[in-house]
Amino acid sequence: MIKTAMVPFADLHAQYLTIKPEIDAAISEVISQSAFIRGRFVDAFENEFASAVGTKHCVSCGNGTDALYIAMRSLGVAAGDEVITTAHSWIATSETITQAGGSVVFCDTDKDAFTIDPKQIEQKITPRTVGIIPVHLYGQPANMDEIMAIARKHKLWVLEDCAQAHFAKFKGQTVGTFGNAAAFSFYPGKNLGAMGDAGAVVTNDAALAEKMAIFARHGGLVKGDHRSEGINSRMDGLQAAILSVKLKKIYDWTQMRQKLAAEYSGRLANIPGVETPLSGEDREHVYHLYVIRHKKRDLLKKWLASSGIETVINYPVALPFLPAYSRLKSRPEDFPNAYGNQSVILSLPIFPEMASTQLEQVVKQMELFALRK
Ligand SMILES: *Cc1c(COP(=O)(O)O)cnc(C)c1O
Repeated sequence: MIKTAMVPFADLHAQYLTIKPEIDAAISEVISQSAFIRGRFVDAFENEFASAVGTKHCVSCGNGTDALYIAMRSLGVAAGDEVITTAHSWIATSETITQAGGSVVFCDTDKDAFTIDPKQIEQKITPRTVGIIPVHLYGQPANMDEIMAIARKHKLWVLEDCAQAHFAKFKGQTVGTFGNAAAFSFYPGKNLGAMGDAGAVVTNDAALAEKMAIFARHGGLVKGDHRSEGINSRMDGLQAAILSVKLKKIYDWTQMRQKLAAEYSGRLANIPGVETPLSGEDREHVYHLYVIRHKKRDLLKKWLASSGIETVINYPVALPFLPAYSRLKSRPEDFPNAYGNQSVILSLPIFPEMASTQLEQVVKQMELFALRK
């Protein structure tokens, strides 16, 4: 495989090589059984994933975006319903609110963490508000104590967007177990990634789980019996079998990410101009992304690129300021934290198989950048 970067942003091939025999065996088993759509591999993964997260049910589906949509349709979002979510996420979080029939209400992020600021949620609640979607962005849990307290007080549902935070913990409790339901993505680059698209919703609510499964499968669980109209969103057997192999490794991989992040933070703390990511008190960050802030972000990004270090901006424009939401006429002063972060955030390479020499190269180039005149 040709590597264009000396330090790639992520390296899925390196991960595959560490588990090649198991992955190859799992794939050929699915093919030999022609268990392509649903079937025992999907059933097995659903059970394994629910028990790993610590919820009673797991409803698998086509991708993480569908997981959010299926959950909201099954929670009963209707025209005019307002759903509050963070100003800083991937667009899947907010576009599915609209697709489910609701209205998007953005809330600014916390000044230090990149997650929704619970203190600002209450100001956004109106008689039409039905739910809150906190996003455990970059792998750091949102403040679930405060969010759940607000939800209980105002009788709102909570749908956790766990797409970037597999097995992250808030006060020792795994994310995805706080709200009414939680959406996961197994997009290849996520901490637990398939080799194609896949997603799931987990919940402890049996009635909601059944609704979601029915909706995701054309409105019925038995062929020919359609109780309602639904959609077609299902996990395929190859992805499920691959995910079952990878689920056994996720705790090790998470630890490797955390070790790299600690190493980064220790080394970068002394470099002028670099603001390392804060891991909030009582939060176990799983570092899907390691995101720093730097006032000369664009120059730094170029500097690193010229020495073969790949970086990414997640995300260049906060949701309220995307053309997709021009109808909301958001002003920078409405979302000062999310807006301010747009120009300073930079995601550095991090992946479990990253060598310490690679991390060393990144640190060295950041030191040289600080010294340049
Ligand atoms: C990746 C992601 C999604 C969507 O997942 P897909 O599997 O790509 O559809 C949703 N929310 C967040 C925060 C994500 O990072």
